[in-house]
Amino acid sequence: MRDVQRIGVVGAGVMGRGIAYQAAVSGFQVVLHDALPEVAEQAVKQIASLINRQVEKGYLDPERGSEALPRIQTADSLESFGDCDFVIEAVVEDLDVKQDVFRKLDDVCDDDVVLATNTSAKSITEIASAASDPTRVCGMHFFNPVHRMKLVEVVRALQTADWAVEQTERVGRLLGKEVVRIQERPGFATSRISALVGNEAFYMLMEGVGTPEEIDRAIKLGLNFPMGPFELGDLVGWDTRLKVLQYLHETLGEKFRPCPLLVQYVKAGRLGRKTGWGVYRYD
Ligand code: NAD
Repeated sequence: MRDVQRIGVVGAGVMGRGIAYQAAVSGFQVVLHDALPEVAEQAVKQIASLINRQVEKGYLDPERGSEALPRIQTADSLESFGDCDFVIEAVVEDLDVKQDVFRKLDDVCDDDVVLATNTSAKSITEIASAASDPTRVCGMHFFNPVHRMKLVEVVRALQTADWAVEQTERVGRLLGKEVVRIQERPGFATSRISALVGNEAFYMLMEGVGTPEEIDRAIKLGLNFPMGPFELGDLVGWDTRLKVLQYLHETLGEKFRPCPLLVQYVKAGRLGRKTGWGVYRYD
């Protein structure tokens, strides 16, 4: 099995920057690329402030923290991924965009490099079909915020090779995560449930069951959820949530039909924390 020292991360949005942070504090060299170079630069600044916050709060050893940032370099193109030992894709939840990334990665990376996708719900088999060697493509589903959430779902697609699954699990553990191995189905084991809960909460809001605060509070206190569905959706981003719902609606049926109010929020640009306003305001 290839020794992993350098991890490539494609996409520097909410998840890509979280994965880059986690990889750097776990001792890996990181190459971070985004289609928008300014987003990658902004991600590095945000990672620097997260490192500081984690050190201040005592969650991260100061020495480990100061070593982490210099390990991250940004790259303007995927050509710079040629010396990566493992790659994690975290671009927008769009099949065409993801396939294009995997086509390019497959050309640039050595044959024994696993190409992992952080898709929330899409078919890894379909994403992998763009690569000339689909056997090295594996699902590696992180959770938001990456530095706090313990799980990585390792998802085996139809053609994923055993060695690629094993390497993905190994890297997941080296990143300090607990790993659950599952077989591919839309939404895997987690997004299928969280998409349904977030959507249902929007139907409840539309029907006037309660305010977002009341619904979140009821679900946290009554069902023992650590976050309410609106708080969680604001963190995930309602645009990402909507894309997942649309895909699950297409593949698994009617119960995943996106709530019209949720669709309106996305049209209004109320995407959550990342736009400063979702269900709640973040001024
Ligand atoms: P995001 O919108 O915050 O970031 C996506 C980034 O991808 C953007 O910065 C965009 O510029 C970049 N991008 C788009 N096309 C690109 C390309 N061709 N090459 C390089 N970069 C490109 O989205 P996100 O929330 O970080 O989600 C990323 C992936 O992770 C999605 O597949 C999503 O479903 C999945 N995911 C999201 C969450 C979550 O809580 N947000 C959790 C688990 C998994």
